[in-house]
Amino acid sequence: MFGVNAIALVVQVNQNYLKLKAGYLFPEISRRVKLFTESSPGLDVIRLGIGDVTEPLPLACRKAMKEAIDEMGTSSGFHGYGPEQGYFWLREVIAKHDFQARGCPINPDEIFVSDGSKCDTSNFLEILGEGNSVAVTDPVYPVYVDSNVMAGRTGPAQESGQFLGLSYLPLNARNDFEAQIPEHHVDLIYLCFPNNPTGAVITREKLARWVDYARQHRSLILFDAAYEAFIQNDDLPHSIYEIEGARECAIEFRSFSKNAGFTGTRCAFTVVPKGVCGHAGNNELVDLWSLWNRRQSTKFNGVSYIVQRGAEAVYSQQGQEEVQALVSFYMQNSAIIRRHLAGAGFTVFGGEHAPYVWIKVPDGLDSWGFFDFLLQKANVVGTPGSGFGAAGEGYFRLSAFNSRENVQKAMKRISSL
Ligand SMILES: *Cc1c(COP(=O)(O)O)cnc(C)c1O
Repeated sequence: MFGVNAIALVVQVNQNYLKLKAGYLFPEISRRVKLFTESSPGLDVIRLGIGDVTEPLPLACRKAMKEAIDEMGTSSGFHGYGPEQGYFWLREVIAKHDFQARGCPINPDEIFVSDGSKCDTSNFLEILGEGNSVAVTDPVYPVYVDSNVMAGRTGPAQESGQFLGLSYLPLNARNDFEAQIPEHHVDLIYLCFPNNPTGAVITREKLARWVDYARQHRSLILFDAAYEAFIQNDDLPHSIYEIEGARECAIEFRSFSKNAGFTGTRCAFTVVPKGVCGHAGNNELVDLWSLWNRRQSTKFNGVSYIVQRGAEAVYSQQGQEEVQALVSFYMQNSAIIRRHLAGAGFTVFGGEHAPYVWIKVPDGLDSWGFFDFLLQKANVVGTPGSGFGAAGEGYFRLSAFNSRENVQKAMKRISSL
């Protein structure tokens, strides 16, 4: 059996992996839910925990993908390996619609289509040197932290769960969930707006201050805009390239996962402007575009033709209408969650430009204590804030990704606690 007769090979493992905490957030949630449902069978448990979409794929995307499948069945329409960077027609419509139409000077060849932002945000570390100092917010999307640990850019985990060597920028109610710009120098900064997990957004003025910091310190910003489509107010920046000067100091990650429901279909893209340069230690400038292009060409063989046709259809008129309807649907869920929780006396954050509502847990409970309370008393599953970082302790995330019926049922139960 697996494990029992394992012989010890002499091959060494990447010991950085051993620094990672064993009890990862979502397995621990599943474990507690399973224990609870086994001890109280037949209960209807509503999951507002994991950040996955629930509504079906837009018809425009499905139609485009079906047509692409049929095309692939003909000798003239068959496609083998595509360009590693993505098909030009997709990169062109992305550049036009998502950037040029908003005044951002981004060209199609600066867009790299991929199978996900999760992989891009972590793979991007490969083209950056080992000695870079890194800042992340706390709480944070765990992928940024764990991929830096795996890459050997941190020391061991401390008792708080924070890793030695990383700069953590705390987010809390006192600072409105806006990270303070560091007073010290860091080489690399992760920003995510609209934010997962807090649902916070950033104004143009405040984002401009980050860009100023990066330019002054010659630092690189990794900007994750996976939830850009959920912004309800056009005064808020959808892209970091709406800020002057960002082209020289920022990489942006976008995904079709949350706007068009592609979490299981897989398509995303990363923007690497041609002006962004790092250095090779000896003051020799190296542009990141060339390195990323080299990395992708070597290690990635592109997203399937069928899926890229599906992503292209997001930009058709019908696709745009359907994506808009999906976003509105989730944002109405979010409004329902906000309203009920506020009515029940909770302090509520986020959820206005993001599908996540971030709440302060009641006095006397910690994040996991509130998780158990909500599970047992309302049969509702959420995500403990402490799972996103030490500073998330005392907070709790509820996701708007669910059916209307489940959201309403869950809120009714919480309201009557
Ligand atoms: C969901 C999500 C993504 C998207 O990841 P994909 O791999 O493209 O599905 C990226 N960043 C954050 C913060 C997310 O929550």
